[in-house]
Amino acid sequence: MKSKDYFTAEQKQQIVDAIHEAELNTSGEIRVHIDTKCKAKNPLDRAVQVFNKLEMHKTDLYNGVLIYLSVSDRKFAIIGDEGIDQKVPHDFWDSTKNLMIEHFKKGEMVLGLTEGIKLAGLQLKEFFPYQTGDIDELSNKISFE
Ligand code: CA
Ligand code: CA
Repeated sequence: MKSKDYFTAEQKQQIVDAIHEAELNTSGEIRVHIDTKCKAKNPLDRAVQVFNKLEMHKTDLYNGVLIYLSVSDRKFAIIGDEGIDQKVPHDFWDSTKNLMIEHFKKGEMVLGLTEGIKLAGLQLKEFFPYQTGDIDELSNKISFE
């Protein structure tokens, strides 16, 4: 099955809506990329590749966040741009990752993504609060390969 067909239209909309909601809390820009199978040695390497390919460094505050998931082998990673790394503690993403893993283990892939996205938005709020006149710098659409 192709990654594009893994989720229904309604499920994809739920994920996009979660991104929209999260970005009302933070100036950070969250994107989701879904692979069928992880195309690199590990999901973190692949997430870096995708981050660059999607030109996610193109934010004013270097606060783009990529949530990467490969559906057939169930691997995932979260990475943030350097603006985030400079500000947050090193274990910043752990609670989001743990929440997502809990859902993924139960096979709740959509819920894992939507809850993870929302929590990421809330966590980013502390360091990168939403600002009036916010621009949607990076598309909320899911990227597939
Ligand atoms: Ca924005
Ligand atoms: Ca966005």
